[in-house]
Amino acid sequence: MHRADCATLTCAPEFSEWLSLLIFASYPIAIGAAFALFHVTGLSRRLSGRLEATGWRGFVQDGLYGAALAAFVWLACLPVGYWRRFVLDNPGIKVTFNGPMPEGNREPSLAERHWYWITEQLADVPMFVIGAAIAAPILLAIMRRVPRHYWLLPALGLAAAVAVDSYSHVFDTVRPLPEGPLAQDIADIAEAAGLAADRVYLGEAQPMLGLDIAQARWLGGRQVAIIGEPFFNTLRISPEAYSPRYRPVTAAEVRAVAAHEIAHVKHDHAVLLPLLLTLAAILFAWLAALLLRRGGIDVAKRANLPLVALAFGAMACALLPVRANLWRVAENQADATGLDIGRDPEGFALLAVRLARGGQLDWQPVTHALLATHPDPLDRIERAAAWSRDNAAADWRAEGLAGPVRMRVRQGDFTYYDWPDEP
Ligand SMILES: [Zn+2]
Repeated sequence: MHRADCATLTCAPEFSEWLSLLIFASYPIAIGAAFALFHVTGLSRRLSGRLEATGWRGFVQDGLYGAALAAFVWLACLPVGYWRRFVLDNPGIKVTFNGPMPEGNREPSLAERHWYWITEQLADVPMFVIGAAIAAPILLAIMRRVPRHYWLLPALGLAAAVAVDSYSHVFDTVRPLPEGPLAQDIADIAEAAGLAADRVYLGEAQPMLGLDIAQARWLGGRQVAIIGEPFFNTLRISPEAYSPRYRPVTAAEVRAVAAHEIAHVKHDHAVLLPLLLTLAAILFAWLAALLLRRGGIDVAKRANLPLVALAFGAMACALLPVRANLWRVAENQADATGLDIGRDPEGFALLAVRLARGGQLDWQPVTHALLATHPDPLDRIERAAAWSRDNAAADWRAEGLAGPVRMRVRQGDFTYYDWPDEP
């Protein structure tokens, strides 16, 4: 459906697929190469030997070593930063200028851009170097104390990242969905999924923590959240695509989002997905430790720290496609169930069109396979079309625009106005 409409909504990829992937991977590659270089050039061994010879306390030696390693990695990343900021001069890459605007509001010159860029880079150094000076002695102490089980530490770190990502929504504030036909429709959808309707809430995300992918921005930063069990199972609806600059949200789209999110709740994805991701993180950390052991690398030795960082860093990168694919399985399941309980294929397809905004309608295939957490919008539209061939859409109560978009809201520096009726 509406394939031609969709094509106008999305910009064609600015880069070839391989260049896009290279841009994505450029920092991990630079950091990995820096660790490898520090080791193979013998720099690591020599520096460690020099520090040993000073006779200073062990943790001071380890801290200085960590600081030097961090400074080396920072240097290795400079060319990549430069390449991304100045060489890839393409609208696909955001070149920002953070310094004060020059007199008369004219465009900053290239020299001014360079100057601000280098001051930005330098501003990172203290945090980076001090962080490493503190972390290196702690990590080395743990690896010396428990040389067989130290890998549990990065595993726990990754698991903690998954947990924060998955449960930050517990800080969102939510209240019941306002009475009306749309609330009744959504209550029916929740009932079709076997969930209690009184658990459907309209929510507001915490601006500090509500930064993950599934979140919605309504007018004034308001969001919709569907809550299953208290704390668990909260899933936020809809992304930046809800910006009123595109088109006010319709009741059909809200139903489609609600059905999709309720399907996540029905399938317990908010519990299962973090659990699987945590298990994968633990497995990959264990694999990194195994690789190091098989390679005969003594992790208690300070000079081997770059190799330890390389092994765990590589495993963290390898975890990305695993995460994307596990996640995409859940999203496909939520789409399929969402159509069955929402019974509104038109709304579902329109929602996919909206979600395509600011992204790609048709992902490049390798990027999609490796990194996409959601099915691509075109697949979702085709899924809706296939569903409507075999099923009848329900006769829902709410029509036209969803209520909240018609409000005039002033929040902070932004004023949102009424929207004209849907054409
Ligand atoms: Zn989803």
